[in-house]
Amino acid sequence: MVRYVYDFAEGGRDLAGLLGGKGANLAEMARLGLPVPPGFTVTTDACRAFLATGTEPDGLIREVSDHLTTLEEAAGRRLGQPDDPLLLSVRSGARFSMPGMMETILDIGLTDESVLGLAKTSGNERFAWDSYRRLVQMFGSTVMGVDGSLFEGVLDDLKRARGAASDLDLTAEDLAGLVESYRNLVRQETGEYFPQSPAEQLRRAVLAVFESWNGERARIYRHREHIPDDLGTAVNVQTMVFGNLGADSGSGVAFTRDPATGRPGLYGDYLANAQGEDVVAGIRNTVPLTALAELDPVSYEQLRSHMSTLETHYRDLCDIEFTIERGRLWMLQTRVGKRTAEAAFAIATELADEGLITPDESLARVSGEGLARLMFPRFDTSAVGKALAHGLPASPGAAVGAAVFDSAEAVRRSAAGEKVVLVRQETTPDDLPGMIAAQAVLTSRGGKTSHAAVVARGMGRVCVCGAEEITVDTGARRFTVGATVVEEGTVVSVDGSEGAVYLGAAPLVDSAVMRYFETGERSDALVAAVAGVMERADGARRLEVRANADTPEDAARARRFGAQGVGLCRTEHMFLGERRKLVEAMILASDETERERALGALLPLQRKDFSGILEAMDGLPVTIRLIDPPLHEFLPDRTELAVRIAAVEARGERPDPHDTDLLGAVSRMHEENPMLGLRGVRLGLVVPGLVAMQVRAIAEAVVERTRAGGRPRAEIMVPLVGAVEELRIERAEVERVLAEVSQESGVPVRLPVGTMIELPRAALTAGRIAEEAEFFSFGTNDLTQTTWGFSRDDVEAEFFSAYLDKGIFATSPFETLDRDGVGRLVRIAVDEGRATRPDLKIGVCGEHGGDPESVHFFHAAGLDYVSCSPFRVPVARLEAGRAAL
Ligand code: ADP
Ligand code: MG
Repeated sequence: MVRYVYDFAEGGRDLAGLLGGKGANLAEMARLGLPVPPGFTVTTDACRAFLATGTEPDGLIREVSDHLTTLEEAAGRRLGQPDDPLLLSVRSGARFSMPGMMETILDIGLTDESVLGLAKTSGNERFAWDSYRRLVQMFGSTVMGVDGSLFEGVLDDLKRARGAASDLDLTAEDLAGLVESYRNLVRQETGEYFPQSPAEQLRRAVLAVFESWNGERARIYRHREHIPDDLGTAVNVQTMVFGNLGADSGSGVAFTRDPATGRPGLYGDYLANAQGEDVVAGIRNTVPLTALAELDPVSYEQLRSHMSTLETHYRDLCDIEFTIERGRLWMLQTRVGKRTAEAAFAIATELADEGLITPDESLARVSGEGLARLMFPRFDTSAVGKALAHGLPASPGAAVGAAVFDSAEAVRRSAAGEKVVLVRQETTPDDLPGMIAAQAVLTSRGGKTSHAAVVARGMGRVCVCGAEEITVDTGARRFTVGATVVEEGTVVSVDGSEGAVYLGAAPLVDSAVMRYFETGERSDALVAAVAGVMERADGARRLEVRANADTPEDAARARRFGAQGVGLCRTEHMFLGERRKLVEAMILASDETERERALGALLPLQRKDFSGILEAMDGLPVTIRLIDPPLHEFLPDRTELAVRIAAVEARGERPDPHDTDLLGAVSRMHEENPMLGLRGVRLGLVVPGLVAMQVRAIAEAVVERTRAGGRPRAEIMVPLVGAVEELRIERAEVERVLAEVSQESGVPVRLPVGTMIELPRAALTAGRIAEEAEFFSFGTNDLTQTTWGFSRDDVEAEFFSAYLDKGIFATSPFETLDRDGVGRLVRIAVDEGRATRPDLKIGVCGEHGGDPESVHFFHAAGLDYVSCSPFRVPVARLEAGRAAL
């Protein structure tokens, strides 16, 4: 038989799926002997059954009433008993924490009768009426559907009439009158009386919590956090305890360590004579938890001891909610607490040092994303003060600028040299120019996959999104947070790593972690923690990590960051700048001699480029990709050129013949879809002499480095191969040139030749391609483009946010590898390539090589290495280590 109700004494934290996180942890605390107000949990099964059919499943009502009876017997009083009422809270609590997204109803059991009993037993009439009016308000809005703001309105009217500054200034009579007004309001709005049966209150409250699972707020939140819609919530029914019974009562929240820095020691806020909601709502100012040591030393000591029990038991940072009722401490909630990246590293290290967790576990507790955050410069947290608002940390970094409210203003001010922060409710593709011009983007709506977040991350712009506390008034050019008004032009500071916004220009500090990677300097405890974690990761990982680097400087930095080689050295930038003239000459050459002269001029320049990179990576592999983009990318823009010639002709003069030749070439070479045109290996097969020149430059650089006593390890990589025949022909040319250079120099140059796998056809025929390739490197950017048929530049800003909203994918496939599609091609290519050539070396050099989730996939798929931008190398090392756990 299915059971729908578990007493706290029966549950435990391993039952979180059934009892929800809150219920499972309440049970766990009860089991540990901590003081938890007694109660029981209605399971998520019951919720799912209710939501599916619209009625309570069979047996639920009986089970609830049985458990209620047990509760009443233990308490020695009945729910809503007129002379001495037992009161209950009815609390939502799903598998995954959805803070504030669903409903909780307090003080169930109060009626016109029992409110008098409560007044008598508590000896506090005001408290009893205050509790009752809270019930009518919460029940009225949550269960009976009355617009919550109507209650606020009635309360405000009363306060004004009494000249009361806060709720605390209202007397018992005032509050009794308020209950009367509330009940009239309920009747007026619903045609129903506020229920006077405690049992009915309880039943309806439970069902309302079930229903709150499908409330709009909750659904949006789940979508944003990728929480499945079909889990349902559990409902916790719990004896009420009261923090608002006088000066010896109160409520607070606490962490076992500082969630910002990870520093050990209790940390939190306390509010005397208050219910828990008042702490969070910020109605009155809280005091730091340490003040409780003076207010109530006994409770404080108990709290410390319970929290230490919890941290030892959960072996992690815990946060709790507690209430003190007339000097008696009650634990209302606990969970493993959220923390900043800094705290995550500090805590993982300390818990491992204390022996509470193993070194492997400590690696599991940190993340590459967190490490990336620590590598950005950030605001000096000791100097910034309290945040103005919080949102989601959508794109990391710290930025300061004047608030502006539309794209045009952002562009205008930034063109005038001002730094700006673009503030929008949400962004659309129309905001793109403003986002480019701004230092940071701040939105009041939308999740980490909203347009603002996706585009900002893509551009490396700082972004905080979904800062719901702020109200953006674009028309009036200002935003407000509570009573604070921020007009256009006001300087704000945006912390995209932590998701915080500050008023004014917050001071920036360099990242000590970045300095550590650059110089090895261990300046503080955080850096020492990071260094320890990196050592553990390096010890654990199987994947090698290389870097994508095109210059000696990048290669050297990558090496300092721990790169074990260059996985992708692009050669196209070697054709830019002043060298364009030589490329033009090569393209326009009318005969072999002219072409050879142009190529001959490029040769020593390329040789020098390669030699520098090989020197920076001496002893480590450097995979050099032969030229990939279409040649017209190196020529002037067709329209510009045509306009220039037309302007000359309009003046009746003769245009420069070089220009007309160039226009002819550009027009000939124009492509509708350059991404799918004459590029990659196709260039080498069609343009005479180009590949030979590049290979010669590489080989001669190798000779030069060898003669200088180095250990150059160049590898030659052919891009965009789709058929083994392409590679066979290209490779023959490569080998011919290598043999030539070996002969001329007397230094044998034997370099591995491999290919990129970046077309579906290459992946599907990888077994054949491996006959000619000594290594594979997945170019997952192009492979994603060609597998999905997306042109990255065209789709990302245009419709990806719509795709993300509709749930077609959870993250952009250009950010996190699409395992089902692109990943399948990767697996096929790995299997079939290795079947042909068991020692085939396989890596990846797309941007996915530095993306945590993708790194885990590449580990599982059996790749030998990932290659990413130099700054992502530490992130990839860490995630490769975590993937191997
Ligand atoms: P959330 O999941 O939104 O935090 P909770 O179920 O924790 O919602 O309830 C919100 C607040 O209600 C708690 O922080 C606490 O202050 C108060 N509360 C809940 N249950 C009780 C109780 N049994 N006694 C006193 N206060 C309670
Ligand atoms: Mg809570």
